[in-house]
Amino acid sequence: MKEKDLLDLGYKKYEGETYDVYFNKDVCKHSGNCVKANHTVFQLKRKPWVLPVATEQESVITAIKGCPSGALKYKLKNSDEIEP
Ligand code: SF4
Repeated sequence: MKEKDLLDLGYKKYEGETYDVYFNKDVCKHSGNCVKANHTVFQLKRKPWVLPVATEQESVITAIKGCPSGALKYKLKNSDEIEP
């Protein structure tokens, strides 16, 4: 999937230096998996609640892959492909 399609579906983009994160609140099932998996990048009480810190990239990819709803996606800066 390309970024434009994701934004058209209602996903919001959170930009980082080495990767971007996308989130759709209407898709989120509020399992809390993301917050439990990485509390540096995902913090519900902070604005923005997603902060794509470069040093957390690998951990965030794992966290996003563990999102049960598909509400979270990511894209590496050196790629055009949105994952997963
Ligand atoms: S892991 Fe996915 S479904 Fe669960 S709270 Fe985070 S974004 Fe929502």
